[in-house]
Amino acid sequence: MGIEQEQAKTLGNGFVTTSLDKLVNWSRAKSLWPMTFGLACCAIEMMATGAARFDLDRMGVLFRASPRQADVIIIAGTVTKKMMPVIRTVYEQMPEPRYVIAMGACASSGGIFDTYSVIQGIDEELPVDVYIPGCPPRPEGLLYGLMKLQEKIMKERNSFGNAIGVGEVVNEA
Ligand code: SF4
Repeated sequence: MGIEQEQAKTLGNGFVTTSLDKLVNWSRAKSLWPMTFGLACCAIEMMATGAARFDLDRMGVLFRASPRQADVIIIAGTVTKKMMPVIRTVYEQMPEPRYVIAMGACASSGGIFDTYSVIQGIDEELPVDVYIPGCPPRPEGLLYGLMKLQEKIMKERNSFGNAIGVGEVVNEA
């Protein structure tokens, strides 16, 4: 008899796995580790967000120097076609689950650079979880975007099952 049938007799359907999902989601949402990575002027605002005045550490957000240790990549700046292979390599080196934030107008839509050399939105290449508007967004905007990502992660279902190799994560957001 599976764990779901056993628990259904005593606790109601999905009680144990739902609680484990919440635990996994909480631990992921409260320890987002972004890749240390920036592309253009938006990256300056990202650096300011991580510095003492705005202090991302208090949210458990710690920039990592290796994609192997990162679970979120903040696309902060203009994405050129020349840079895209590098971004893809970095993204593919990040372990699952991994998340993408498009920070600013350039990352979200190409911004003012409607030219042959600029990708018109990183969502043409990578699955974006959160878009942050602005040119550039203020650090408060990035903080808000990170909080929206935390909310999205907290709504994921089957995250425990996925962590032990059973099924896919279902995203309700
Ligand atoms: S959105 Fe504005 S501030 Fe950000 S990279 Fe583009 S031009 Fe620079």
